[in-house]
Amino acid sequence: MMILFNEDLVSRDEATIDIEDRGYQFGDGVYEVIRIYHGVFFELEAHLDRLERSASEIKIAFPFSREDLKANLEKLIEKEPVQSGHVYMQLTRGVAPRNHPFPEKADPVFVAYTKEYEKEPSRAPGRAVFTDDIRWLRCDIKSLNLLGNVLAKQFANDQNVEEAIFHRGEWITEGSSTNVFIVKNKTLYTHPANHLILNGITRRVVLSIAKDLGVKVKEEAFTKQDLLDSDEVFISSTTQEVRPIVVVDGVRISDGKEGEITASLHAKFAGRLS
Ligand code: PMP
Repeated sequence: MMILFNEDLVSRDEATIDIEDRGYQFGDGVYEVIRIYHGVFFELEAHLDRLERSASEIKIAFPFSREDLKANLEKLIEKEPVQSGHVYMQLTRGVAPRNHPFPEKADPVFVAYTKEYEKEPSRAPGRAVFTDDIRWLRCDIKSLNLLGNVLAKQFANDQNVEEAIFHRGEWITEGSSTNVFIVKNKTLYTHPANHLILNGITRRVVLSIAKDLGVKVKEEAFTKQDLLDSDEVFISSTTQEVRPIVVVDGVRISDGKEGEITASLHAKFAGRLS
């Protein structure tokens, strides 16, 4: 398996990470996952914009030009062709003796590698549970610090459901690795893109499709009760696309089937991929 390690393509064994890499010790870095459909990156520019923004928000100087990074990613998928899968990439602040403040001199460390899916991720109607959003207040940064998300996803796994939906007080923010939408009286609601959620690339595609379809959209926070009383619930992410959620905390949403608006948003989404 070949890895893009900074600017070089190397085998996995050659890509050694120092024990004092700040990503390893502090989670001091950012990442992206970009879906590959039919061998082509989906929404590449939007993901690279977000990667650069995340890096800039935590004051890591982005070490490559956009053109060089794109050229290197193309080289990577030439070496490791993927039909349907994704590329994972991360950028850390670099290697320095362990100490909390930023090191005076450290070169950021970049790693990217691909994954071919053995089977397409399921988008069968799923179930979810609510969980307290105990994360920090900069969820807009796609940081390597995922412990709050990891604990939430494990909480969902332990209950044999697909997703954990975060709430702060009564207010729904997002899923442990997805954005959350509800439909009520033909209006689509999702949390506004502020510091409490990651502004998902899929979320943005869904909102633009909804506008194309003439679905009324409100980027407004809603409560747990609003979600339980809604007509449709779905989650969105790079890997899960648009996935209906039909049971939350053991409560059936509406008639317990994928909703009409969810289905039409996904159909149109799928249409953009071919
Ligand atoms: N929120 C969180 C917390 C996530 O981890 C993800 C997945 N990266 C998303 C939302 C969805 O983002 P995207 O559509 O860009 O994959």
